[in-house]
Amino acid sequence: MVHDLYHYIGGARVDGTSGRFGDVYNPCTGEVQARLPLASRDEVREAIANAEKGQAEWAAMNPQRRGRILLKFVDLANEHMDELAELLSSEHGKTFADSKGDVQRGLEVVEFSAGAAPHLLKGEFSDSVGTGIDVHSLRKPLGVVAGISPFNFPAMIPLWQAGPALAAGNAFICKPSERDPSVPLRLAELLTEAGLPDGVFNVVNGDKEAVDALIEDPRVKAIGFVGSTPIAQAIYAGAAAHGKRAQCFGGAKNHMVILADADLDMAADALIGAGYGSAGERCMAISVAVPVGEETADALVAKLQERIKGLRVGASMDKDVDFGPVVAASAKERIEGYIAKGAEEGAELLVDGRGHTVDGYEGGFWVGPTLFDRVTQEMSIYREEIFGPVLSVVRAADYDEALRLCSEHEFGNGVAIFTRDGDAARDFASRVEVGMVGVNVPIPVPIAYYTFGGWKASGFGDLNQHGPDAFRFFTKTKTVTSRWPSGVRQGASFVMPAGS
Ligand code: NAD
Repeated sequence: MVHDLYHYIGGARVDGTSGRFGDVYNPCTGEVQARLPLASRDEVREAIANAEKGQAEWAAMNPQRRGRILLKFVDLANEHMDELAELLSSEHGKTFADSKGDVQRGLEVVEFSAGAAPHLLKGEFSDSVGTGIDVHSLRKPLGVVAGISPFNFPAMIPLWQAGPALAAGNAFICKPSERDPSVPLRLAELLTEAGLPDGVFNVVNGDKEAVDALIEDPRVKAIGFVGSTPIAQAIYAGAAAHGKRAQCFGGAKNHMVILADADLDMAADALIGAGYGSAGERCMAISVAVPVGEETADALVAKLQERIKGLRVGASMDKDVDFGPVVAASAKERIEGYIAKGAEEGAELLVDGRGHTVDGYEGGFWVGPTLFDRVTQEMSIYREEIFGPVLSVVRAADYDEALRLCSEHEFGNGVAIFTRDGDAARDFASRVEVGMVGVNVPIPVPIAYYTFGGWKASGFGDLNQHGPDAFRFFTKTKTVTSRWPSGVRQGASFVMPAGS
């Protein structure tokens, strides 16, 4: 049965009125399971008006009280964890266990934000900057802000954006991916149940029309975006043209360097998990392995091939599978296209994931684990983001070549090095031109109280997600200079005060 989805505006479910709909699939069966209303500009404006109303009450509440509501929400989300994870798996296709991780990593940022807000919203104070003159600064919420999120983390990314924004006293409009919007809609209900005033968190479903309406409306003061690089760059430019701040995170091509002294079993296990987990649909997935030296490469490739034989690809709710389907038929087609192109361009296709089938789920969007060896820098499977379960091995002659490969790639989201040599690891972490680095850690997603953000084509803007940066992004500074004269002692001053 295909059911109709809705928006969540002003603390309630709201049916779409635009007459435009998108299809939400179950990637395991390939069937449409819901119709998603795609908002018109008027519907977006209505949501912004509701958000403006809710924001005044929310901002007037002290940060600790706001934090208590957010922590109540965290408790409720944990109570509903299985329901949220199942819903997430049904639209995204990742395994149930992985879906729980998606929700959990989002909640960690809400917890951090709830606790840290009173501290991070503190301003500065300087006593006696001139005779009888003090200066202090305040961090004020922006007002209404918006977050546009990708399909691959439908719980985590909206919560990374909304957690700090709400804790800082803003109202938030979430524009989730059209592919898996049901978890954000459910999170909105749980926020209301936790006591969030109506209109403070809204979900507007839609496509480019809704996004453009958010960018162009002067009442929306900031845009957080996560998704592919061309859209990230366009939204960054659009927001700037409309005089608003933006943080826009894009695609990735994360490398893992394996030095000759690394624990190769540990490195191979890490590559399998980081390359194929969630069908490779993670912005921090490893898609390029860079073994240093022919001997390391031969041994590593043999270990990878051995492990790939044991991987199980199947339905998301099956406890025994390692990863599920990719999100859409178009994604399957794109990934299979890259596999064909890699072979044509001369890479050695050691394991071919095309044509994978799962009994009982013949219509699902399946792609099996794929392994290429002897990939080179000019090939499109190296240069472009595939976003599927495809791992490319690029053999480097020495450490300097490996470091150069990671640094010269267009994308700079995450990178990892596996070695037992502390000196080499330290040099790598310091010199590599990438935003997030793992040392014997394949997916170095920083914990909530640090910040998350890639370099180069992986991120546009100057402040990262979560951690203290998020509070700077979602607040504006006001600086107050004050003097309390004990009486009127002098007339007007016509010169700029100089010196101190
Ligand atoms: P996408 O760019 O297709 O969509 C992201 C969002 O943008 C969605 O909400 C979508 O509705 C909206 N959108 C799409 N086209 C638009 C347009 N023309 N104008 C305005 N809005 C538009 O990305 P996706 O396929 O949902 O997600 C996968 C991508 O996200 C990958 O490239 C992945 O690397 C990236 N990603 C990056 C990070 C990060 O932190 N850097 C995290 C997760 C995902």
